[in-house]
Amino acid sequence: MNEMQLKFLSRSENEVFARNVVAAFALPLNPTLSELSDVKTAVSEAVTNCIVHGYRNAEGWITVRCVIEGEKLHIEISDGGTGIEDLEKALTPFYTTLPEEERSGMGFTIMQTFMTDFSVRSERGKGTTVTMCKDFGARGSDAQ
Ligand code: ATP
Ligand code: MG
Repeated sequence: MNEMQLKFLSRSENEVFARNVVAAFALPLNPTLSELSDVKTAVSEAVTNCIVHGYRNAEGWITVRCVIEGEKLHIEISDGGTGIEDLEKALTPFYTTLPEEERSGMGFTIMQTFMTDFSVRSERGKGTTVTMCKDFGARGSDAQ
């Protein structure tokens, strides 16, 4: 078992920072390049959501917690921002509350597709937490 926690401000440059820290933490699990890229993409999408939706580009704290258990990497990404008004709608592919900013509404769908497990909990006015897991032991035939 291994664990780490990372807390940083909701600035757009921290999206790259966070995804690379998580990727580095996952390295002992010997991920393939494509697995690593899946994890980085999912982390980017979750952190971007905290920045643009959770805090609406204002300053706030984002927390990333990772736990390695066996061959599984558990990732929890939280903000203390606005929360999600309608979670069911938010999880629908192509649904976005920011179409005028050319958001495509695909962030949650991407996280769901690229990770083994995915869930969201959110409370209006309190914030949002995305929980994801990548199982590096569940390699398909396309493993490199
Ligand atoms: P894209 O990710 O394709 O740029 P998007 O961010 O709108 O577009 P999703 O990431 O799927 O799409 O999120 C769907 C909707 O869920 C968002 O439009 C927003 O309303 C809400 N949402 C997502 N994450 C958060 C969050 N951390 N805080 C508040 N609302 C959120
Ligand atoms: Mg998004």
